[in-house]
Amino acid sequence: MPKRLIILGSTGSIGRKALEVASDFPGEFEIVALSTNCQVGLLAEQAQRFRPKAVCVCAPQAQDAGRAAAEAAGAVFHGGEAGLTELVERYDADMVVVATVGFVGLVPTLRAIALGRTIALANKEVLVTAGELVMEAAKRQKARILPIDSEHNAIFQCLNGHGPRAVRRVILTASGGPFRGSNRERMAAITPDEALRHPTWNMGPKITIDSATLMNKGFEVIEGKYLFDLTADQIEVVVHPQSTIHSMVEYVDGSVIAQLGVTDMYLPIQNVLFYPARVENKFPSLDWAAVGSLTFERPDMEAFPCLKYAYEALQQGGTSPAVLNAANEVAVARFLKGDIAFLRIPEIIRETLDAHKRLEASNLEEIQGADSWARQQAAAI
Ligand code: MG
Repeated sequence: MPKRLIILGSTGSIGRKALEVASDFPGEFEIVALSTNCQVGLLAEQAQRFRPKAVCVCAPQAQDAGRAAAEAAGAVFHGGEAGLTELVERYDADMVVVATVGFVGLVPTLRAIALGRTIALANKEVLVTAGELVMEAAKRQKARILPIDSEHNAIFQCLNGHGPRAVRRVILTASGGPFRGSNRERMAAITPDEALRHPTWNMGPKITIDSATLMNKGFEVIEGKYLFDLTADQIEVVVHPQSTIHSMVEYVDGSVIAQLGVTDMYLPIQNVLFYPARVENKFPSLDWAAVGSLTFERPDMEAFPCLKYAYEALQQGGTSPAVLNAANEVAVARFLKGDIAFLRIPEIIRETLDAHKRLEASNLEEIQGADSWARQQAAAI
């Protein structure tokens, strides 16, 4: 029986890779449903090729084109953000790949968990904004959450079933992004084009900017805490420019287990889609002599304050991480539009966090409320 997949966000970098894995292993997967925000042309091609039962297009301006693409591929059309949840609710699947970008992935993920589906999670904002809620629901429903993000997938592999009591700490590796070693003067002049050139990973625009500010690493710290039931103190970030080690686990006995590999998201996606099986793929082995040396340094939290703000939001808990995320989403979108300078991104986040009155985040409404409050706040700064 092929594994039945729903892929939310199939036109983004993770979604496309997931479909590449599926097409490299004929007969292993059935694509049940696909979604895009607004890349209808690519979604139409994917739908022709993989023949899903349904597709969803989220962006209001792309609904008509989406409907036509669905019809051409013989798929049922679902529209808007609500359409993502409809895909999850109406079509049976073994695994839901959540590869959307931003807050939009949260509600469909919670629905998929409520239905007991296995979640292949790439959308980091889901755990950043609602980590406690999501992990509690997963525990209750016995729904597995398998992390696609390379660092968490590495930790997941290194843990190999060990619980938090066996762990002294985890070490999240960071490439440092394109501006590692830059001073503030240099960073004041950074353009969106420069920030979109990542040295080791090829990713979508939002996450690439988050990598340049180190907010991406901050989000990964928050995600790591919830995914693996750790405290913030148990998660250390180390800059490792080669990105060969994807992360490490230090056990209470001092043993450190690291996961290494080629820097291609195909590998963690394959790991999750086939979990727990290990399957041969088209990638060559790492050439150790070519890798040469691996280097490590401490992250510069003064030059890259976003990482510091993420630790702070995690310590505060409640709605603070959701506010951190929303302010960041708005600030990054404004930077990409050319509306603000690169160094304004952390400043807008700082000002939004300072103005925020923290709530417990005990339900979805509180989180959504904090999210929309922070969006308005960050847009007005
Ligand atoms: Mg990552």
